[in-house]
Amino acid sequence: MPPPALDPRPSAALPDMDWAAAHEHLVGFLADLIRVPSINPPNPPGPELDAANRIAAELRSFGLEPEVLEPFPGRGSVFARLRGDDTGGDPFLLLSHLDVVPANAADGWTHGPFDGDVADGYVWGRGAVDMKGMVALEVGVLRLLAARARAAGLDPARDPIPGLRRDVLFACTADEENGGWEGAGWVVDNRPDLLRAAGGVNEAGGVSADIAGRRFYPIQVAEKGHEVFRILVHGTWGHGSMPRDDNALVMAAEAVRRLATPGEPRITPVMRTLLDEVAAALGPDQAALLAEVGGDDPRRSEAALRAMCDPMYARALRALIRDTISPGIFHAGTKYNIIPGEAEVTIDIRTLPGTTPDDIREEILARLGDLAPHCDLERIHTAIPVDAPVSGELYDLLRAAIRAADPDGVPVPVMAPFATDGKHLVRLGVPLYGFSPLRLEPGERFLERFHGIDERVGVDALRWGLPVLYDVTATFCG
Ligand SMILES: [Zn+2]
Repeated sequence: MPPPALDPRPSAALPDMDWAAAHEHLVGFLADLIRVPSINPPNPPGPELDAANRIAAELRSFGLEPEVLEPFPGRGSVFARLRGDDTGGDPFLLLSHLDVVPANAADGWTHGPFDGDVADGYVWGRGAVDMKGMVALEVGVLRLLAARARAAGLDPARDPIPGLRRDVLFACTADEENGGWEGAGWVVDNRPDLLRAAGGVNEAGGVSADIAGRRFYPIQVAEKGHEVFRILVHGTWGHGSMPRDDNALVMAAEAVRRLATPGEPRITPVMRTLLDEVAAALGPDQAALLAEVGGDDPRRSEAALRAMCDPMYARALRALIRDTISPGIFHAGTKYNIIPGEAEVTIDIRTLPGTTPDDIREEILARLGDLAPHCDLERIHTAIPVDAPVSGELYDLLRAAIRAADPDGVPVPVMAPFATDGKHLVRLGVPLYGFSPLRLEPGERFLERFHGIDERVGVDALRWGLPVLYDVTATFCG
């Protein structure tokens, strides 16, 4: 089926004046939302509920009747529904999360991480990228759709929105940055009606990336699984004056070295499609390098990665073609002259589709080798990899919406190296795409802004993204 042409774009039906006002509103709301420091883990609890209430107030300001749930103290999530006339099938879901990772102004931020400054063409602050910017885009789309109802003399909280054949669900949840079990995970188990949809969009895709002179828009169709293991290394306590081979710290350090060594690449179907589609859009030299990246020889794959792209993208690609192990926490020792008899290493593992939890346990034991008998493994977190179809009505529409807004842009499918709330939605069978549309200036270090210092999102990037998300919503529901 050829993708819908989106000609004309639904957004073209609105006058420029409306878009200017919508954009101004979006930027103001985003800055405001950044000022609510909805840090996860919350200490003390509360700021996530504050953010949910701030978003709910925004939704009420244009006539919706949102629902705020607080299943755990201070952990607020907010939901709203715009009605269609019920002739178009199951709803469309605009998903997001409202929590952010911690930020410390003393770490060198140009603007305070919770000041919500708008300066030099950016909205600055923790969450601008991950992911209050997308929250603001989604709320911006709801605002425009609600205005349709009001212009027709209807109540946007109750009446079908003119032109919508299916409902639009908005869900902005707490706790994503800590696994989402007290946010989207709880909602899936207890209020699935708030999330059940024919498909939806979420964070972390649809953002332009300039590679070798072409502008690509990776649409996130899959995400890696996540496992966390704590490894207790047992040695023998002793006096520091007489070193021992079974010093637990020394063994743990060797274990870390073995675990952190990158494993063999494996190209999954989504990554194969990505490499092929990117190669098709580039010249023959770059295409040849990409063929090596996806080839059978790990050394040539690595050499090609080094040769072809920006280290930021190479690091992401390297992670997307293998299971990764990243040591994160190391504890050992009590006093300098005591040989430690115990050490603890916590490792963060990201798995490709096709790698099972059992595979990972075996891989850890294999890498530990002769150290394995000294180690106890404890799995403390597990989440399966997820993927959505790289075809079908919604995926084709996302591609068409990018092309309509940026005819030179090349939409491609991609896997995220990290996990999102998509892992919870998969339990409801909701196909979810990472699609928070932004057109960046070439050279923007966007990937480095996730959880980074000086997190910020371009005002013009948002200006481009709002009509794209509107086109997607209006077309899928129209
Ligand atoms: Zn996020």
